[in-house]
Amino acid sequence: MISLTENIELMSREDARYANQVVLKKIIIETATPRLPMPLLTASGALENAFLVLVTLESECGLVGHSYLFSPNQSLLPSLVHAANAAFKEVEGHFCVPEQLTDHLLAKFRLFGGTGILTMAVASIDMAAWDMLGLAVGKPLYQILGGATQHIHCYESSGLGIGSEASVIGQAEHFVNLGNSRMKVRLGYETVNEEVHLITTLQGTLGNQVELMVDYNQGLSVEQAFARCQVLDDHGLIWIEEPISAELLESASKLTALTKTPIQLGENLWSLTEVQRSLDLNASNYLMPDVAKIGGATQWLRSAKLAAKAGVRVSSHLYPEISMHLLASIDNAHYLEYADWTKLQFSGHQAPSYNKVALGDASGVGLYG
Ligand SMILES: [Mg+2]
Repeated sequence: MISLTENIELMSREDARYANQVVLKKIIIETATPRLPMPLLTASGALENAFLVLVTLESECGLVGHSYLFSPNQSLLPSLVHAANAAFKEVEGHFCVPEQLTDHLLAKFRLFGGTGILTMAVASIDMAAWDMLGLAVGKPLYQILGGATQHIHCYESSGLGIGSEASVIGQAEHFVNLGNSRMKVRLGYETVNEEVHLITTLQGTLGNQVELMVDYNQGLSVEQAFARCQVLDDHGLIWIEEPISAELLESASKLTALTKTPIQLGENLWSLTEVQRSLDLNASNYLMPDVAKIGGATQWLRSAKLAAKAGVRVSSHLYPEISMHLLASIDNAHYLEYADWTKLQFSGHQAPSYNKVALGDASGVGLYG
């Protein structure tokens, strides 16, 4: 039996007692490929469907916990399914204590080493375990994590992919008409002049209330990034995201020092070590870990604590359903990235209203309401 206090920092002793009575019995994994309401072209590839791995954990007492993984590549879905099954085998019969499950899995696969599909598999178990724990104690996840905020500041990221100016402006107007005036535009056009023209046209068309951030999806060379960020610097952007390859943290650090507009990165950091390295290097002004790529809700929250120590504000990357709970439970929360890619898949999916999303009363994550 694992001690009740060992490695438990994210939940109360009382909730940990509940967790220590729920035993993981079974995993059920399916896949789904809902079509994106708006196909998305980025500087690093196009997306038309959300390729999803749907994970259900079952406990011996009949509780269930749900999570999902998103893959930009359909061909890798079977590998994710296989890895999630393999990860579950290592925690079958364990108590539903997410922090301990995740630490056990990361240690168990240390020889294999790790980032990538394996880390996402661990995340799928971790996220479903947090959801199951919510059902066990009858509370929404953010309350288990000590959060009290019920409305999370967000921005629209459902569309605004690289495309014709008319299509980008049309999508942006659609968001504004629904009351959501904060949004992220994908860049990576042929020239920076086109990008400046797009930004100024959006600001001119949508008016003063619009707030924009931009994302290069790692599409620029270091030289291009230094040149383009300088040109974009005076356009009032909330941030410039992933201008260069996510591995080039030293270059990102120099870019961050030279750019007045905040630099954002984090969705391609795969461990707490990478997060700490990025923070130590001042590779960005803000941080936005991806709850799956970082290894689950547990690792995301630990990353947020590291960022808090460094005085860095944290946003989420995709996975709006669980990410809103995580942001609601930290003091250094910045913005939820809202994408509508999973709104047809999960009945509990919350769409934004006036640049905020509301957390519901459903126990756990509430993927299915
Ligand atoms: Mg991004």
